[in-house]
Amino acid sequence: MFKANKLAEKIYFITGERDAKYPYCHGLLIDADIKVLIDSGFGHKRRKAIQTYVDVDVIINTHFHYDHTNGNRFFSGAQIWAHYLDAPALNSKESFLTHSGLGRLNPRITMEKYFPDLVKERPVARELVDGEILDFGGVVLQVIHLPGHTPGHIGFYHPKDDILFCSDIDLSSFGPWYGSVCSNLALFIDSIHKVKSLNPRVLVTSHTGIITDRIAERLNAYENIFAERDYRILSTLAVEKNLNELVDEKLIYKKFIKPERLIRFFEQVMLEKHLEHLISREKVILTANNCYKAC
Ligand SMILES: [Zn+2]
Repeated sequence: MFKANKLAEKIYFITGERDAKYPYCHGLLIDADIKVLIDSGFGHKRRKAIQTYVDVDVIINTHFHYDHTNGNRFFSGAQIWAHYLDAPALNSKESFLTHSGLGRLNPRITMEKYFPDLVKERPVARELVDGEILDFGGVVLQVIHLPGHTPGHIGFYHPKDDILFCSDIDLSSFGPWYGSVCSNLALFIDSIHKVKSLNPRVLVTSHTGIITDRIAERLNAYENIFAERDYRILSTLAVEKNLNELVDEKLIYKKFIKPERLIRFFEQVMLEKHLEHLISREKVILTANNCYKAC
């Protein structure tokens, strides 16, 4: 399995199950002196194959989202590392609820139904910072802070082979996702620019995998989705609408799959971030009766 997915010397790409669609993701295995997994949400079959091959010393979570962390619990001997801004949400359920905003829903139902594995809290052993060089003995990676998706969202640059793993700057057809209350639209765009300026030979993402061609063009198309969403919101706000009516328009998700309550929540959070941005640029106003209208 690992030989077939060799990305560079001692670096293996782990394909997420079900095409790495939520709640799965692609990951990396660093088979150096120190054995490292980057993210753990690739699924049980992959996890079992890895465990027969290697004893994992460290799991680095690129951010706190469940689809990147849900395998952590099966590697009880491994330390968890993460960026210091996302460490709190990995350290406690309370903080997870605050960072994600899922505490706004009924937290008990949300956690039990959608995130049953997160009841076990697992402290982060090492908090990472931007630019830090991690030498695993045979493989050297640099931490690249790419905030926006979450505050502590990070990627990893492998200078030797000019490969960048940029996690959930995922170049998916859905587009950028900023449905956690701690997500930040402007920082997300800045992080896409940072990836563009690094201009790696190979880009690896958590949900679309290994990309070697038209990287700059794909990053531009991905960034343009922010503007396309702005345009759809402004068009529909030719007539004033309140937030619930806007959520009903399904401007971002297009359709609300199950669990609908959760997807509606993500749609609302992402809309709120666009509205905040459009109000600050005086393209939308909030009316006296709590409705939004394009100027
Ligand atoms: Zn994510």
